[in-house]
Amino acid sequence: MPGCSSKYIQLSGMICYSPEQTPAPGYKELTMSEDNPIILPRDQHRISRRRIDEDSLKVLYRLHRNGFKAYLVGGSVRDLLLDRQPKDFDIGTDATPNQMRKLFRNCFLVGRRFRLAHIRFAGGKVIEVATFRRQPDEDELPDDEDEHFHFVQNVFGTPREDAYRRDFTINALFYDIGDFSVIDHVGGLRDLEEKCLRVIGDPRIRFVEDPVRMLRAIEFAARLDFQLADDILPAIEEHKPLLATAAPARVREEVMALFRYGIAAPVLKQCRELGMLPHLLAGYPGTDESIALLGKIDQRTMVGVPIEESFAIAALFLRLFMDDCPPSQEPHITEALHKANEIIIPHCRYFSIANAIRHQARELLIGCFRLARGTGLRGERRFLQHPLTPTALELFTLWAEVHPELAPKVEQWSQLINKRKSEEHGQPKDAPPQKRRPRRRRRPRRQGQKNSAPEKTP
Ligand code: ATP
Ligand code: MG
Repeated sequence: MPGCSSKYIQLSGMICYSPEQTPAPGYKELTMSEDNPIILPRDQHRISRRRIDEDSLKVLYRLHRNGFKAYLVGGSVRDLLLDRQPKDFDIGTDATPNQMRKLFRNCFLVGRRFRLAHIRFAGGKVIEVATFRRQPDEDELPDDEDEHFHFVQNVFGTPREDAYRRDFTINALFYDIGDFSVIDHVGGLRDLEEKCLRVIGDPRIRFVEDPVRMLRAIEFAARLDFQLADDILPAIEEHKPLLATAAPARVREEVMALFRYGIAAPVLKQCRELGMLPHLLAGYPGTDESIALLGKIDQRTMVGVPIEESFAIAALFLRLFMDDCPPSQEPHITEALHKANEIIIPHCRYFSIANAIRHQARELLIGCFRLARGTGLRGERRFLQHPLTPTALELFTLWAEVHPELAPKVEQWSQLINKRKSEEHGQPKDAPPQKRRPRRRRRPRRQGQKNSAPEKTP
């Protein structure tokens, strides 16, 4: 894939490199003059307030009326400029969390480590507002590792510093509610135009700082159909083992984002090709068949079917499980259970996935195993009654699209399941309720009888 290698500084006369500044290491190439971001006035960009969420606008306006800077930040500005509907509207401001608490009655400060203000609106809606932050200097950092993380996340800074701490240039644009302009400190506008995903600063440094950015780079390029800047792949090659050191909760979140955006197949395929998978999802080999199944799941997501985490986990490991439990050899169901556990448990332990989700993922694998064996076997009636069987059939149907020889089984099972459903729902409304067998009354025990229960003490 050809990269986009143009240096923004060379391209734009509006930006000048200021050597007297002392940028953080790795930021030099993109450093612009402190006072000279690119500012696009309202008539030169396509962001219309009509497309901004009403409650977010209220928060922006109130901050602004009270003399604070109030910007739409991050993904929402990027998406609005690309004519896409943003998922959420994050707000950046120079008001501190305490100032925000005074300004908004419905404000709650959240996050033990990373203090954010949540402004709550009717219907449980929450608008997230963060004070501008900056990357602290090395000598400012406390020694204690736990405190270190807390500190790094909470050093307040200027808007420009806030832009520079972000991951990619296209994610660091601001929309100023004060004059409706778009502010670009890092060259994001040009990269949006060039469809180029570029790390802010040197990727070799930024990926070491936070290895999850390697996955995010591939993810955003796939989501937006952008090309990776030339320096990204060599930096991934160098630092991919660090993915294994990233907080599992964050990796889990990003992996689920791949499924929610319907890009699990292309991203995990690229991760496989780049040798990232063993560090990212140990235990997931990402074979062609498995990726093909994820592709089917992505298509299903793209037409609006929501994806559960248990479904995603079962999909990731279905190929591996089927290799271990080929239905043709008819392994016993307990053996299949054992294999499913062997595959799923290490994954769920590592990512601290709740037992209920783990259990469902396992049931889906076992469900697919039963479906693959075909109809007419022992335990079929109970299996048809199992609440997860229709979901297992959904997964199996997608699997059968990868393995067309399974299509007749899908057909047979679908008929059985539909028949059962219509039996369940097809009871005429005025049908008399089924008579229950009268309960047999127990004969009262006589006092002094053997084995009688001891009397309860109050
Ligand atoms: P989405 O549409 O998925 O919400 P987003 O760009 O809003 O995309 P988020 O994960 O919600 O992505 O993060 C919000 C913003 O926070 C990003 O746009 C980026 O500016 C910043 N950010 C997120 N993760 C990182 C990171 N690992 N390093 C630096 N900045 C980050
Ligand atoms: Mg977001």
